[in-house]
Amino acid sequence: MAKPVTTLIKGGIVVLGPAVSVQDVLIEGERIGAVGRLSGAAADVEIDATDLLVLPGAIDAHVHFDDVFMGTVSVHNYYTGTLAAAFGGVTSVIDFSNQIPGEPLIKTLEVKKEAARDQALVDWGVHAVITDAAAEILEEIALLVDAGVPTIKCYMTYKQDGLMMEADKLRHILRRLREAGGMLLVHAEDDEVLQEHLSKTIESGIFAAIGHARSRPAEAEIRAIRSCIKIAEQTDGRVFIVHLACAEGMDLITAARAKGIDIMAETCTHYLVFTEDMLKREDGIKWICSPPLRDKANQDRLWGGLQFGAISMVSSDDAAYSWEAKLMGRERFDRCPNGIAGIEVRLPVLYSEGVVKGRLSLTRLVEVVAAKPANLFGLAPRKGSLAPGADADIVLFDPHAKWTMSRKTLHQACDYCSYEDVEITGKIVKVFSRGELLIDGDRCRGQKGRGQYLHRKLDLSFGP
Ligand code: MN
Ligand code: MN
Repeated sequence: MAKPVTTLIKGGIVVLGPAVSVQDVLIEGERIGAVGRLSGAAADVEIDATDLLVLPGAIDAHVHFDDVFMGTVSVHNYYTGTLAAAFGGVTSVIDFSNQIPGEPLIKTLEVKKEAARDQALVDWGVHAVITDAAAEILEEIALLVDAGVPTIKCYMTYKQDGLMMEADKLRHILRRLREAGGMLLVHAEDDEVLQEHLSKTIESGIFAAIGHARSRPAEAEIRAIRSCIKIAEQTDGRVFIVHLACAEGMDLITAARAKGIDIMAETCTHYLVFTEDMLKREDGIKWICSPPLRDKANQDRLWGGLQFGAISMVSSDDAAYSWEAKLMGRERFDRCPNGIAGIEVRLPVLYSEGVVKGRLSLTRLVEVVAAKPANLFGLAPRKGSLAPGADADIVLFDPHAKWTMSRKTLHQACDYCSYEDVEITGKIVKVFSRGELLIDGDRCRGQKGRGQYLHRKLDLSFGP
């Protein structure tokens, strides 16, 4: 057998668990061989990482590729989406696959395997979205978990899009998941509250983007999170609230956990950098996502919760739609496809807005973009850490470089950019994926289709 290619990353500032120190990292083939002062080690390739941060490849556990939604389809597919991911230091993604009602659950995985073939640049996994909880579908949950999809998402809203799942059915699904060693992910916004506020907003003559925030108040999130807490308590199963946007919801989750209820949450990049003021702009539809952006006081509390552990991690909720599709919402906010492209920006934005501004420690940054998603979503110890033996998914990051985000400087496939003109400190220099130099400055050197399917298995002993 041929000797694996070795690469020595020399003298970088390595973040490994709670430690930040100058070390060398030796890549052997697809894995990390050693971390330490390895000056004597001979390697096929040597890279000087002086003054650069050496971080584990980021994991984005919440993205929507090829997503058919609100009369359109997302512009990120397995190629364009993973290309943007790679430039954003993201070496593993977990995509959502919506069950077509009546179809077997395993189809959600098969469809994505087909979509990813010859396309994916980085490693990828799948969450299934259940839209039909008939008894025979529930029987399949264990099968799906065994196929490497231990996480199932349900929506508590989007009734008109055929996605909503009633609370009593959530309970049945979670029971099955618990038996199979899985976790239920929930889009927590209460549909009744949303319907009531949508009518009120439209009746009062508000059609512009800000109406989106008015029609989806925090009350909807809070009520849905309360139901989720109850369901987790009744079933003893694990619930994970996706895209938490309100501080009061965060407090409810913290209180529930203190009582031993197994519930936790992520937030998303956009809630940490934008407020609902963006929706008041003329081009406010660029920031229509659900739950909606909220106010500054709320945002400050999310940052606090993220640093101190009330929120486990940050995902992008990448849902990239074309400008043409977004324009469906210009006259009526509720016709705008909900979503923001964010797969490429998460790591640099969190570094710049979090670490540089003193709201997030460097080690916590690595936790919330890599270690926690790996632990909670069944990718550890292979992913999410620079420990020897892990996949050599590595980001070299210049902590001082200053640049401005725009459609031109990013690689996302959207023809507009919600992060246009956002000033950033810190830049990705190189990205390795399983030992291969994937991103080198402005160039992507990876071959389409090199990304591998991530067969996931949860370890429920990992906590928030
Ligand atoms: Mn959602
Ligand atoms: Mn989403």
